[in-house]
Amino acid sequence: MSIQKTRARPTKIKAPHGASVMHIDWSDGHKGVYPHAILRGYCPCAECQGHSGTIKFKSGGSLELVDVATVGNYAISLAWGDGHNTGIYNFDYLRMLCRCPQCSPEGDSDDSMPDLPGV
Ligand SMILES: [Zn+2]
Ligand SMILES: [Zn+2]
Repeated sequence: MSIQKTRARPTKIKAPHGASVMHIDWSDGHKGVYPHAILRGYCPCAECQGHSGTIKFKSGGSLELVDVATVGNYAISLAWGDGHNTGIYNFDYLRMLCRCPQCSPEGDSDDSMPDLPGV
């Protein structure tokens, strides 16, 4: 137990009924944004992800989030409107799924525009 973990953990999970996005406040101050379609599509359970070993997006299924429960002190589990509730999202995985402007890889940045030197 000598390894000190500074891993962030959720301090507040906001998933109001009828919303299509879940918000998580993290212990390091990060404001996570989690569209239900992302959470459901990347459900980490064996039924959704199979045995390929790589995480893939799977569309379909209910996007109505009916319950959020913490699992130990390392993960949360989500229950969906169609009864699917086997996904256990550990905190590291959750951080990867974050779609806030800071984390989102396909943000509306103009970084792909090359700087053309004057000729
Ligand atoms: Zn699943
Ligand atoms: Zn983020």
